[in-house]
Amino acid sequence: MSKYDVIVLGSGPGGYVTAIRASQLGLKTAIVEKESLGGVCLNWGGCIPTKALIKSADVFNYLNHAEDYGLKVTGVDKDFNAVVKRSRDVADGMSKGVQFLLKKNKIDVIMGYGTVKKGKKIEVKADDGSTSTVEGNHIIIATGAKSRVLPNLPQDGKKVIGYREAMTLEKQPKKMIVVGSGAIGVEFAYFYNSMGTEVTIVEYVDRIVPVEDIDVSKQMERSFKKAGIKIMTSSEVTGVDTSGNGVKATVKTKKGEEVLEADIVLSAVGIETNLSNIGLEEVGISTDRGKVLVNDWYQTNIPGYYAIGDITAGPALAHVASAEGILCVEKIADMHVEPLDYGNIPGCTYSTPEIASVGMTEAQAKEAGYELKVGKFPFSASGKASASGAKDGFVKVIFDAKYGEWLGCHMIGAGVTDMIAEAVLGRKLETTGHEVLKAIHPHPTMSEAVMEAVADAYGEVIHL
Ligand SMILES: Cc1cc2nc3c(=O)[nH]c(=O)nc-3n(C[C@H](O)[C@H](O)[C@H](O)COP(=O)(O)OP(=O)(O)OC[C@H]3O[C@@H](n4cnc5c(N)ncnc54)[C@H](O)[C@@H]3O)c2cc1C
Repeated sequence: MSKYDVIVLGSGPGGYVTAIRASQLGLKTAIVEKESLGGVCLNWGGCIPTKALIKSADVFNYLNHAEDYGLKVTGVDKDFNAVVKRSRDVADGMSKGVQFLLKKNKIDVIMGYGTVKKGKKIEVKADDGSTSTVEGNHIIIATGAKSRVLPNLPQDGKKVIGYREAMTLEKQPKKMIVVGSGAIGVEFAYFYNSMGTEVTIVEYVDRIVPVEDIDVSKQMERSFKKAGIKIMTSSEVTGVDTSGNGVKATVKTKKGEEVLEADIVLSAVGIETNLSNIGLEEVGISTDRGKVLVNDWYQTNIPGYYAIGDITAGPALAHVASAEGILCVEKIADMHVEPLDYGNIPGCTYSTPEIASVGMTEAQAKEAGYELKVGKFPFSASGKASASGAKDGFVKVIFDAKYGEWLGCHMIGAGVTDMIAEAVLGRKLETTGHEVLKAIHPHPTMSEAVMEAVADAYGEVIHL
């Protein structure tokens, strides 16, 4: 039986990054994967394939609006299958990249379905039915998640689908209902609408992107409606009938019941962790409401077993999974490390407009009892946004009036997912508003809107 210092179960952005960091720290490492290296993030949704689809949508939108930029482009058309193929090719390339990195870092890759066993072992069943067992001093579980299935919205994978099918459809639907308006729902709604599908979003609560600051939700609703996406908030799909040609969805709204017809219903109502049949009960690892219970160092209740990524309680994001894994192995290697600051994790949505936020919303900051200084700068007042034809959106910043702590930053508009890192770093370094104002931002850039929003909070805004 092969013996390792660290064995990682699952090769998503949690697992593979953990394995690489473990190997960098001199730990003999193996990784077990049942499907494709890179997990959901690189292969089945997540970070890369959806962004490849979205890029095609962006290019298509640009071409269709070429006249706005003084250009004449004729004969613009799309090839839906080619768009999907490009996304799959990008995903394959990324997965091969992970394979290369694992090899470069001398990590043994064991393909097959892994089950954790007592005695810090993992039993691996390969596709050909053969089984092997590996033993480690530390077992790190990173098996991730899949699309959550609601009882009144059973997925048949054809007419009622999850995110995995939504990115590999062979035929573009004419009409689609997207249930749920979190990042996943919104990104697919944007993609399909841009490609010419008639999209209706059905959201249970009273606003779309409900985890965001309310101003962001309002702007998103305006932008999406302008783009032709229908939005039903305070509404719930109570059942689907797939017996006919398409699918009929019964939607309970505040005004009563409505039946919507579509070719496809995409259920984007969150995720469900991959915890069953991986041996947790046999080993005695504690879980709570579908998540593995861990401490600050991702240790489970059973010594030698750890859990990171989507299967733990933190936000289900790739960068969180990676950060947890790195911290977990650094602690194993006896490095001096601090627990992760879950209050400073950026969240991004990659539609047009993009959304990016970190820290507290204005409502949360008020509820926490802070006296606030709030500033906002609209991209309509930004030179770069005007030149780019991207005037929708704004940057909103929230500071504690007493000590100047940067409590939250909320952005909606073009390119904001690349801009949020400024707020993350600023908050990490405990910067104050005045320090941001004294940091010169290049002109003309969208990033000037951060400086101007901070200036607005302190009554010093120039361009409003
Ligand atoms: C449509 C969509 C869009 C998203 N967009 C973003 C985004 O833009 N940015 C972002 O940060 N996050 C995004 N996410 C979330 C992100 O993909 C996840 O948070 C991230 O992939 C979690 O990483 P993980 O390593 O915990 O698990 P996963 O990526 O789910 O990887 C788990 C791996 O474990 C393997 N596995 C499971 N069970 C076993 C077993 N028994 N034996 C062997 N292998 C096993 C799986 O095959 C998989 O490869 C998105 C998710 C979706 C669905």
